[in-house]
Amino acid sequence: MIQTDSVFQELGFEYKTDNLYYKTIDTILQAAVYLNIPRRLELILAQPKNEIIVHFPVKMDNGQFKLFKGYRIQHNNVLGPYKGGMRFDNTVHLDHVKALAAIMTIKTALVQLPFGGAKGGVQINPKSLSRDELMRMTRRFTSALGNNIHPDFDIPAPDVGTNAQIMAWMADTYVNLDTQRRATSHSVVTGKPLAFGGSQGRDKATGQGLVYVLEEILPEKNIAFGQCRFSLVGFGNVGSWTGRLLCERGATLLAVGDHSGFIKNDQGIDAIKLTRYVEEKGGVKGFAEAESISEDEFYQTKVDLFIPAALEQMINLKKAQQLDCRILAEAANIPVTPEAEEFLLKKGVEILPAVLCNAGGVTVSYFEWKQNRQTETWDLDVVDHKLKKCMIQATHRVKQAAKKYKCNLQLAAYCAALKHIEEVYEHRGIFP
Ligand code: GLU
Repeated sequence: MIQTDSVFQELGFEYKTDNLYYKTIDTILQAAVYLNIPRRLELILAQPKNEIIVHFPVKMDNGQFKLFKGYRIQHNNVLGPYKGGMRFDNTVHLDHVKALAAIMTIKTALVQLPFGGAKGGVQINPKSLSRDELMRMTRRFTSALGNNIHPDFDIPAPDVGTNAQIMAWMADTYVNLDTQRRATSHSVVTGKPLAFGGSQGRDKATGQGLVYVLEEILPEKNIAFGQCRFSLVGFGNVGSWTGRLLCERGATLLAVGDHSGFIKNDQGIDAIKLTRYVEEKGGVKGFAEAESISEDEFYQTKVDLFIPAALEQMINLKKAQQLDCRILAEAANIPVTPEAEEFLLKKGVEILPAVLCNAGGVTVSYFEWKQNRQTETWDLDVVDHKLKKCMIQATHRVKQAAKKYKCNLQLAAYCAALKHIEEVYEHRGIFP
């Protein structure tokens, strides 16, 4: 914290404890202290390289114009083009996106992808727009960003509130505006639909990546998939894929929670049926093959593995005190508050860090980008095999760093990532 304070002081920032951006940078700087990273790197990483904010009007279905605010934060590109999702959500604001962009820098570095970190989005509930309004808003946002996104410079992808269709509109807008008419300009965006340059396995990639991490970790804890009982909070893309893939391996999904409510079945919830139900109804509430429970009961449910797969900072100290689990796998980005994390670590809960657990998404994005640029399409088994290799290597890096620096896995993941970034900076130097 002392280190953080002095870095923030030099940059003229006032530290605010309830701000996600400061918390994120604090974690990065804590790792920097462990590694004795040069001061200039601490200063560089404590703020993004570029903060792009655009305002753009969109014609709504009722004929009125509405003004939107869009962000693209490019945190660091020392390892390669900026990379990270575009989020359409009510919670999007500048410091939030800055935090998520910094996390992308750590995530891509941990997996040693040739990418840097970025994040963007628009503060909007996409469900409040009609399909046409959503398309016009997406296209106008893309054109407002202009050349700030580019297949060799900054490559967006899906995130909370966005999906393959939205990526297709972004890519199509970019291709139409690309005066150089490159055959590969749709590689400006990843997470596209399969028929339009998407990759096999991208949809399930984040959940699949987490399962590969668990394949490495669970045996060390003497937990076999067949005996593993788990609960999930958040049942969107990441939560539902994680649920389905873990059940496929024989694990039992005991309880699920989301914005609509909380459900439980001691015999296990069928994740495939629940996915179909949620696609139709929009939430888990009312699923006939489980009983409805209270939020408190949900968090108190005894499981081997608890997986937060929704928004940031959802597990606060109160919820952490209720949890009865051996392992917490962070499928969402920074889902646990620092106080909750401290409490859980003291209690002996193993926390598997988000930058490792959810790195499968950006890893398969890299494969999509590569396929687009080589005008190739890879089979699912090729994608899965390559993803597995990347996730195993990243997990080993984290474990080795934890041993070397005698720290928890979260800090170890940041250390492993920073070490790589530092090495590249050492080779490249600082221009001019
Ligand atoms: N939004 C995802 C993430 O936060 C994926 C990013 C990407 O594929 O570029 O990791």
